[in-house]
Amino acid sequence: MGGGIGGLLTGVKVSGLCDVDVFEEHHLVGYPKHCTGLISGKVLNFLGCGAGEFVLNTFNNYTLTHTSIPNRELRLKFRDTISLVDRPNIERYLSDVFQSRGGSLYLSLKAVAIDASNTCLIFEDGTIRKYDLIVVAEGAKAALTKSLGMCSNSTYLVGMQSIIRANNDLDSPHVIFGCDISYEFFGWVVPIDSKQVLVGLADRYVDYPKLNYLIKSYLSRRLGINDLVVKEVFGGLIPTSTPCRQALRNIIGVGDAVFVTKPISGGGIYSITNQVRVLEESLRRGGTDYASKMYLRGLLNLLTTLKIQHLLRNLVINKFGSLSNFVMKLIESEVNEVTLLDYDKYILNPLDLNNLLKSLRALLT
Ligand SMILES: Cc1cc2nc3c(=O)[nH]c(=O)nc-3n(C[C@H](O)[C@H](O)[C@H](O)COP(=O)(O)OP(=O)(O)OC[C@H]3O[C@@H](n4cnc5c(N)ncnc54)[C@H](O)[C@@H]3O)c2cc1C
Repeated sequence: MGGGIGGLLTGVKVSGLCDVDVFEEHHLVGYPKHCTGLISGKVLNFLGCGAGEFVLNTFNNYTLTHTSIPNRELRLKFRDTISLVDRPNIERYLSDVFQSRGGSLYLSLKAVAIDASNTCLIFEDGTIRKYDLIVVAEGAKAALTKSLGMCSNSTYLVGMQSIIRANNDLDSPHVIFGCDISYEFFGWVVPIDSKQVLVGLADRYVDYPKLNYLIKSYLSRRLGINDLVVKEVFGGLIPTSTPCRQALRNIIGVGDAVFVTKPISGGGIYSITNQVRVLEESLRRGGTDYASKMYLRGLLNLLTTLKIQHLLRNLVINKFGSLSNFVMKLIESEVNEVTLLDYDKYILNPLDLNNLLKSLRALLT
C-alpha cells in the first residue's frame, strides 16, 4: 500500500512470487515530488538496469563547508560513484516494470485503515480487501503504522528544495553547515547539469525565505552563480526517529512509514532496498505466513546499522552541541579530505579515521 518508491519497488521484486496489488492515493505515481535523489551505486543497481536511464549526474565527492569559516572546506570522497537520479521518473519506471510483470496498480485510491486481525485494507470508498500480507509503504506521515501502534514518538525535519536554472561549472555537490542555514541539519547545492542546480535545506522549521537566503548567500555570493531563475520549489518530511516496529502479524512496514531514514543524511532509499531484498528472500523461502518472522531476522543487519548511526549522531550532538559545530571543528582541524569506503554505512577509510580522531582529540583537549 503506497505507490512511492517503497511500494513500487516491493511490487517489482515480489510480483513474480505472488499476486501483488499496489494502491496509491494520488492520480499518478512520483507525486508529490520531494526527494533530492542522491543514491549509491549499490542502491541504483538494485532498482534495476532500466533505472540507469534516469541518472542525471554522477559524483565522486562532496564539498563540506561551514558559513563561519568560508575560506576552508572539507572534501568528502567516495569509493563508490554516487548518482543523482530523477526520482519521479524512477517511480514511473518502477510502476511500468511492476505492471509488465502482472502487478495491479490502483491510482486515486486511499487506504484509511487496516484491520490487523484479519489482514484487511479498508479504503476511503468503503471497500475492504483481504490479503495474506500487507506492506505499508505510506511514507513519512506514517498515519497507518501509527494507528496500528507500530510507530509512535515521531520526530521530523522539513526539507525544502528548488530547481534553479543557472549556468554553473560545479562538478560536485556542496553541503553547507552553519546555524544561519540550518540549526539541526544542513543545506545543499547539487549540480544537475551545466544549466541547472538543485538547492535545498532541511531543519526543524523551514520556509521559503530561509531557502531564498541560502540561494542568495551561498549560490550567488559564495559560488558566484548569478542570473538565476527559480523553476520549482518542493519538499517533504524527513523522519529522524529511530526505526520503529517493522512488522505486526502479517503487516510489514517499508520505508519512511517505519522511520528507516539514515539519521545523518536523511537518505531513505538505501534502507528501502534492504527491506525489499529481505522481504523477497523471506517470501522465496517461506511463503507469506512466515514472512514477518523471517523478515525480521533478515532485517537485523540494517536495523543495527541504523541504530549505530543514531547513536553516533547523538554522541556528536552531545559532545559538540550540533552536527554543524562538529563539522566546523573538523574543517578547522588539519584534516581536509576524508574517504568514505561505504556511502550508505558511513564506513571511513581506516587511515582517515585515525587522522580524524587525532585531530579531534587535539581540538577537545
Ligand atoms: C527534501 C528531501 C530530500 C531527500 N533526499 C534523499 C536523497 O537524496 N536520497 C535518499 O535516499 N533519500 C532522500 N530522501 C528520503 C526519501 O525521499 C524517502 O526516504 C523515500 O521517498 C521514502 O519512500 P517511501 O516509499 O517510504 O515513501 P514516499 O516516497 O513518501 O511514498 C509514499 C506513497 O504512498 C502514498 N500514500 C500515502 N498514504 C496513502 C494511503 N493511505 N493510501 C494510498 N496511498 C498512500 C503517497 O501518496 C506516496 O506516493 C529525501 C527526502 C526529502 C524530504
